Amino acid sequence: MVRAYGGRVLEVLTAGDVVAQVRCWLGAARRVAVFTGAGVSTASGIPDFRGPDGLWTKDPAAQRLFSLPDYLTDPELRRTVWQRRAAHPARCAEPNPAHDAIVTLERTTRLVALVTQNVDGLHQRAGSDASLVLELHGSQWQVLCLGCRERGPMEPVLARVRAGDLDPACEGCGGILKSGTVAFGEVLPQEVFRAARAAVASCELLLAVGSSLTVQPAASLCRVATRAGARLVVINAEPTSYDAVAVASGGAVLRGRVEQVLPELVAGLARAPT
Ligand code: NAD
Repeated sequence: MVRAYGGRVLEVLTAGDVVAQVRCWLGAARRVAVFTGAGVSTASGIPDFRGPDGLWTKDPAAQRLFSLPDYLTDPELRRTVWQRRAAHPARCAEPNPAHDAIVTLERTTRLVALVTQNVDGLHQRAGSDASLVLELHGSQWQVLCLGCRERGPMEPVLARVRAGDLDPACEGCGGILKSGTVAFGEVLPQEVFRAARAAVASCELLLAVGSSLTVQPAASLCRVATRAGARLVVINAEPTSYDAVAVASGGAVLRGRVEQVLPELVAGLARAPT
């Protein structure tokens, strides 16, 4: 299952050996950062984009629903998107053992940041310290007006959709409303990205969890960390774009379900950091 470890390929190591080694690194590191992707939430019933059951794997045309230029110019597409937002599985999803294990990591290691590409808010719901969570791609619990740039909570707007307003406009300026997530064609929130860069550049160990590591510039944070001298540990069900980088950094690649691997990893990390 696991071949990449400590910068070399050692087939004699079992998965348990590598988990024990990563646990040891976690215990010793003075600064740990975690970077998460959609794979952390699939066990909560929220599909990812590119995994075997991913939204785009099953329906490549669905990518258009995430394009800002199309959203701006096509009212029919907006109506479809609002229906999907109202019925999105994240509306009633619960955190899973992967989210819980990251909360344990926060309590047992010197965690400096939880950088996430996820927009579902499940890290905070699981109990992660909101001040450590850096949402690179925004939040689906917020709404943004593309006219006056006012932000607000998503739920009241979804209530309007459910009541029959198929393309709800901003009540302040009449502008087009969208979710507070980063669509294709939009830039990342720069302050959040800067904070994430600073956190990973200063950590000794970066865990990249449940992400294909293909979405840029988010995935480039792995390289920022390793260039600054950190070990990178990738935990994912499938190969990622940064597996070789993890090996070259003296880190490791753990192939498996995050809701199984992460709890196993944190099981032996019961002591509080000093
Ligand atoms: P991705 O779809 O590109 O990759 C997800 C990866 O996770 C895949 O490689 C898949 O094999 C793996 N995976 C799925 N379930 C897993 C599990 N249980 N255990 C281990 N690995 C598992 O997702 P990404 O890299 O996060 O990037 C895609 C973009 O998708 C991000 O910008 C993010 O904002 C957005 N997104 C977010 C959510 C969410 O908030 N839950 C859901 C879908 C997409």
